[in-house]
This record gives sequence, C-alpha cells and structure tokens, in this order.
Amino acid sequence: MRTAATKAEIREALATARRDGGRIGLVPTMGFLHDGHLSLLAAARRECDVVVMSLFVNPAQFGPGEDLERYPRDRERDERLAGQAGVDLIYAPEVDDVYPSGFNTAVEVDGITEVLCGDPASRGPEHFRGVTTVVAKLFNTVQPDVAYFGQKDAQQATVIRRMVRDLDFPVEIEVLPTVREPDGLAMSSRNAYLSPAERERATALRRALLDAESAAAHGSTTSAALDAARRVLIEAGVEPEYLEARDAERLVPIESFNGRPVLLAVAARFGRARLIDNVIVEPTADGGTAGMAGSRTD
Ligand code: AMP
Repeated sequence: MRTAATKAEIREALATARRDGGRIGLVPTMGFLHDGHLSLLAAARRECDVVVMSLFVNPAQFGPGEDLERYPRDRERDERLAGQAGVDLIYAPEVDDVYPSGFNTAVEVDGITEVLCGDPASRGPEHFRGVTTVVAKLFNTVQPDVAYFGQKDAQQATVIRRMVRDLDFPVEIEVLPTVREPDGLAMSSRNAYLSPAERERATALRRALLDAESAAAHGSTTSAALDAARRVLIEAGVEPEYLEARDAERLVPIESFNGRPVLLAVAARFGRARLIDNVIVEPTADGGTAGMAGSRTD
C-alpha cells in the first residue's frame, strides 16, 4: 500500500493502472474508520483493479462552531485498517494541497442542498457546497471509474449523484447500505463523542425510523408515519433537529407513499454529537410500500 500526499504523487501512482485500462475505485473518507467505511472498501476491492481511499477532514464542509478541530483522527490505525482491507493507495493531502492560497471556486448543487442537513437551521447549504467542491476535486485528481458512498449520508449521496449527472463526470456512483451496531445505531465516526447514556438514547433514531417504516407498510400517510417515529423519540427524550419524509431523489416534501421511493430522515443532537439516520421506503409492485432500511443501491 502506498500513501500519496499530493496531486502529483497520486497521478504518478495511478499512471500505469490507467494506461493498462485498470478499473480504479475511489472511496472518499474523513478517516477514523469503522465498519461502514470498511464495507465501501470491500466493495471497491471486489469490483476494481486499483482501490484508492482518500483520507481528508475537509474544512470546507464544517461550519463555524462545528467540530472540525475535535473531529476524531487516528492516522496510524486508519492506515493499518486500509491495508487490511486491500487498499492500494491512500490519498491523504494537507489542507494547502487541496485549497492553495487564492482558491476561489466552488461547486454548488441547487434545489436539494437547502433542506434537511442543508437547511440553515441545520448545517446549512454551505455544508454541501464544501462536500461537492471537495468531491469534484477528488474526482478530477483520482479520475476513478467508480466511487463509493454510504446510504447513511443519504442526502449527500443524492447530491453527489446530481452533481455527477449535471456536470458529466465520467464516474459511476455506488451507494452501499448503512452498516449498524448490533443494537441498530448507524456507525459513525462521531459516535466516539457519545457518553454511555447518550449512546443508549441514540438507539431511538433507528427505532423511530423502524416504527415509521412499519406504519408505512400498513398504509399510513407520511405524516402518520412520522408521528409514529416522533412518539419513539419523545419517549426516549430525543428532540429531533429534523424528522421528515421527502421524495428520495428530488428531496421535495411528500404526503403519501404513492409509488416513488420516500426518504424518511432524522437528525438529532446527543451532547457533542450530531447524528443522522434514514430509511428509504420503496414502493412495491402492488402499489403498497416496503421498507428497505437504508439499502438503496443502483
Ligand atoms: P465520512 O468519513 O464520515 O465522511 O464517511 C465516508 C463515507 O463512508 C461516506 O460515503 C459515508 O456515507 C460512508 N459511511 C459513513 N458511515 C457509514 C455507515 N454506517 N454505513 C455505510 N457507509 C457509511
């Protein structure tokens, strides 16, 4: 496994693979790896000749007052786990290599980045502008054939697919199911912030979404399904930052489970940790619904 710190090194390291027509897979991460990241690396290893993992805590996607400085980092452990997962090349640039002085350009996807996590009352659309700008740069630097993302960050995956479509990036996007702890909590680097009591309370997110999903399967409207979820959250003493039902692709609010995939998404704060989770309710052939528990891939 090699590590590249600059764009020049990454291009040089990939030159032979590219010349030989090898399939290059990219897994963008902010490090502090867990089994969710490892599932993306495993898929890349199965499907590609060369696996590149980027390791970069991207300042542009953190707002003022967010957790950029204290975001958990463990470079040595990440390198060890990446090696075990069969990564060929880690791209771990310094901030200056990604954003040299005078950097003045952004990639912005309108219309779907101002809601949910992009709502100004949540992280704001600047968060997604930071994500799409850095992912566009990673695509240009690595020029992967395929890039892997997690359904845990459902809105991020939707935004990236839209950017790729709108800007004609020649890359395939694969979105893989959310990997969970045994009690259902979605794995996240930010789970490291949780106290034991917060960790216990955080399981309410998944339980709430499962209750909403089961209400949907029984023919509820989206607002009744969200009520079912809200009851679980209230019982656990969790005040959501948002709890919403939206069309999974267009991210517009949706009243009924009526033939298109519906994203049920929740965010809440537990002490220092802001956590998100979601489920996609897929329509069934008979016009009903079937929860897919965060397993939308295409
Ligand atoms: P991060 O390091 O948090 O930026 O995440 C890097 C990638 O891993 C993103 O595509 C995430 O959606 C994905 N990811 C994070 N947590 C999970 C999880 N629990 N299951 C699957 N993918 C995940």
